[in-house]
Amino acid sequence: MITIGKANDNEYVVNDPSVSRHHARLTYEEEGHWILEDLGSTNGTFVNGIQIARKQVTSKDVIKLGESYVLNLAEVLKANNDYSEEFAALKQVYDNYIQAKIKIQSSNQFKTRLLQSLPFALPGIIGVLIGFSGKGSPALFAISLFITICAPTVGIYWGAKQSAKIPKLLQDLTNQFKIDYVCPKCGTFLGEIPWESLRNRKHCPVSSCKAKWVSE
Ligand SMILES: [Zn+2]
Repeated sequence: MITIGKANDNEYVVNDPSVSRHHARLTYEEEGHWILEDLGSTNGTFVNGIQIARKQVTSKDVIKLGESYVLNLAEVLKANNDYSEEFAALKQVYDNYIQAKIKIQSSNQFKTRLLQSLPFALPGIIGVLIGFSGKGSPALFAISLFITICAPTVGIYWGAKQSAKIPKLLQDLTNQFKIDYVCPKCGTFLGEIPWESLRNRKHCPVSSCKAKWVSE
């Protein structure tokens, strides 16, 4: 719970003549949502232009206290060391990373197999073509034989070349993940740890940070 007003005993102190001493109160409800309550203020509390007594709010709402003071919810929460909104957004970052990783690995596996087997298929295709055209000649036979002999080498080479592409793609993906999957306050990389596991920790383990990842 965060109390807001002009008096110094509030969690969030506002210096504005039209704001009451104990103007409003924020109570945590559920992920990303807070309940804003007016505490019987003189000049009222407004959400998106409408005066309220009690209303669920997010940082997308325009909150006004009294005549002109605009309350920035994200700022209030940060002042209270609450980074739950930004932390909630990291779930998507983690999910996208895992999906991209699986995609790279499986598409690469398919390409590797295709390139490995393609050279083996060629002699067969040529053989069929020769059979149908009825123009079997010693030169075509020699080419066909040559490809048959070379196919395994070529297949292994192409396959190896394709699988060598993974580290680069994965490296790029991991580098971006290390930039995006960080504590919203201190910027420390959170590791390749599922978002749900981090949520159970509730706050940043960095001792100088202690950002709240989950509101309580
Ligand atoms: Zn942190």
